[in-house]
Amino acid sequence: MSAAVSSSASSHNQWVLASNNKGKLSELQRLFAEANLGISIVPQGQLDIEDAVEDGLSFVENAIIKARHASRISGLPAIADDSGLCVPVLGNAPGIYSARYAGEHGNDTMNNAKLIADLQPIREQQPDAPIKGMFVCVLALVRHADDPLPIIAQGLWQGEILASLQGDGGFGYDPLFWLPELQATAASLSAAEKNSISHRGQAIHKLLAQLPL
Ligand code: IMP
Repeated sequence: MSAAVSSSASSHNQWVLASNNKGKLSELQRLFAEANLGISIVPQGQLDIEDAVEDGLSFVENAIIKARHASRISGLPAIADDSGLCVPVLGNAPGIYSARYAGEHGNDTMNNAKLIADLQPIREQQPDAPIKGMFVCVLALVRHADDPLPIIAQGLWQGEILASLQGDGGFGYDPLFWLPELQATAASLSAAEKNSISHRGQAIHKLLAQLPL
């Protein structure tokens, strides 16, 4: 860690959260607040940091790209979440393209409609077989922009993909993500319930277990 970055990070005790996705931000901020780290987490939008170009081929590559980008611009340690939905019968699509599956970044309505349409032929072939899916969250924490040893944590949340939307909460693909053991979609859970079992909740707990930096 360079002297400049080290003193900047410790004097302000701040980390940048490398995301502008409102749904992710509210979950991550709540999870970090509960963790009582004594560190204030500042979303990159508050520092006028634009989204990074995500040109990696995996969640982990994109998480590191986003964390380095936010750290380089802010001079602070940065944490990034790269997450998405993987559906094995679709070759794990939408995967890293989850936010822009239907073409327009962050259009949840279109993304969900495309997922329903893409799965329809498979449902017609096997009407009684549930279609498995999993949410994936990779968190990457860099102490400074060129950190050669990012801290990485991954969470996986298994469920099934419904043929129609159910539930009003959450964001993204939550209304299609069915949890058979709870008989509910992720969109029907409270924020606290979702965080306690979700891919993001699991990843944060694994990350926290690797701290202090
Ligand atoms: P990213 O910002 O490139 O990591 O894209 C994340 C995308 O994955 C979001 O826009 C959602 O479409 C999807 N996603 C990630 N986490 C969740 C979740 O907890 N619920 C629903 N969709 C999610």
